[in-house]
Amino acid sequence: MSERYFDADVRDGAETFARTKHGILIGGEWRDAVSARVFETYNPATKSLLGVIPEAGAEDVELAVDAASRAFNEIWSKLPPSERQRLLWRLGDAVEAHADELAVLETLDNGKPVREARVIDIRNAIETLRYCAGWATKLTGETVPVSFPGEWHSFTVRQPFPVVGLIVPWNAPIMMAIAKLAPALAAGCCAILKPAELTSLTALRIGQLTQEVGFPPGVINILTGAGRGVGQAIVDHPGIEKISFTGSGAVGQQIISSAARTMKKVTLELGGKSAVVIMQDADLDKAIPSAARGIFGNAGQICNAGSRIYAHRSVYDRVLQGVADFAEKLVVGNGLLPSTQMGPLISQAQLERVCQYVALGRTDGASVVIGGNAEDETGYFMRPTVVAQTRQNMRIVQEEIFGPVVCVQRFDDNNALDDLAMLANATEYGLGAVLWTRDLSSAHRLANRMRAGTIRINGGGLDPALPFGGMKKSGWGRESGREGVEAFTETKSVIVAL
Ligand code: NAP
Ligand code: MG
Repeated sequence: MSERYFDADVRDGAETFARTKHGILIGGEWRDAVSARVFETYNPATKSLLGVIPEAGAEDVELAVDAASRAFNEIWSKLPPSERQRLLWRLGDAVEAHADELAVLETLDNGKPVREARVIDIRNAIETLRYCAGWATKLTGETVPVSFPGEWHSFTVRQPFPVVGLIVPWNAPIMMAIAKLAPALAAGCCAILKPAELTSLTALRIGQLTQEVGFPPGVINILTGAGRGVGQAIVDHPGIEKISFTGSGAVGQQIISSAARTMKKVTLELGGKSAVVIMQDADLDKAIPSAARGIFGNAGQICNAGSRIYAHRSVYDRVLQGVADFAEKLVVGNGLLPSTQMGPLISQAQLERVCQYVALGRTDGASVVIGGNAEDETGYFMRPTVVAQTRQNMRIVQEEIFGPVVCVQRFDDNNALDDLAMLANATEYGLGAVLWTRDLSSAHRLANRMRAGTIRINGGGLDPALPFGGMKKSGWGRESGREGVEAFTETKSVIVAL
């Protein structure tokens, strides 16, 4: 992918797309919501109006489930797996061909720096599409020896849920949409995708690309609108057998309760409060910038953000100073500017929420080393914030802030691995942890003690082949990898009397 910035016509194209009359995608047709209601979407860097989007409701879910069920029965389930593979690969190519435009559109709607959108989000989406394309032809069952009298041939097959509901948040809109669409389609499901109200634009553009590359009508349906409206209607609909959700714990719990009525299968990717442990022998030249990027990337609006740094007392001062220096130099601004390293937060509400957490930390006795404030009221900008003098039981250490705020704490004994693991594990969450040490044995022993779905030792990133998800209140199930594709299937046992 090109490293140059983007051309003026790319921006014009993205802005024109944002302004066009949008529809919801049902059965291959772009249409108004049955209620004809609409809502507006804004640019968080300028607070200016970007476009007007249909507000789908329960009636539209009804139509979408109908279209998806028909597409499954009449077309999708009858195609050979190689055809699903070919379509997913072509969608990956189409996303790559439109990478600049999609990145700029994402930046307009979500605020993240356009380079970050392209190099992280869009690249991950392309790789996920190609990775999942391969799985379409490789989902196998097993032959199973049975012991009851007689001669038998028994085997298992993996079959898709016919219609699945995919509900995604605003922090990584295109990446999250593809992280769910690609495995669902590879497995053979038909999908109803609901993007977050705050960031629907790239999902709508992806919808157009799915049509251009030839996905049959009804295989992918896209319903824009509010979580409590169309989102809840998707969760409640008896014709949808599986929900894959990424978002907050509160909504995740609500989905579990609602799903109990229809006995839907549910996969949940929820929040996190990931620990970054920096041991005495860590390579600080790598650990410090990596820890800083791990919390200030996407303005901290990442479920897996390393929001708690634990540094050994011998390196604590250097780590605190290093992360604070990084924060001070970080260029915050409109994500379309080439110099910008951190964009705005998504909304006024999010900005207030994050600032309130910092205030709460101060009240509880923490000290704000740098940042802590909003700035430049043209958009929802906040200074990257480093907090010290925190204690384990403070809310700022325990709760997910989802903003550019990191707490830096010290620990005393490099060898007390059980204590260290307890410190890192002592939140309700269990999404990720990062360890920095040159001691292979400590690294593995600590990794083994961590209660988190992903452990990174001396670096690492997201890869579509690696299962991703949370322990404890960070979620149910895993996305990515074989497990992520199989999550869209059920096992069927077949026994044949010979
Ligand atoms: P959210 O309020 O839970 O929203 C997530 C999605 O669910 C949105 O599309 C939302 O729609 C929809 N929704 C809301 N209420 C619903 C309901 N009753 N039924 C069905 N759908 C409903 O979360 P958010 O505030 O957008 O996102 C931030 C949170 O997501 C953070 O806590 C973060 O940790 C978590 N997150 C986790 C991961 C992960 O991979 N584990 C990734 C990203 C974010 P509307 O917004 O349109 O109303
Ligand atoms: Mg927006």
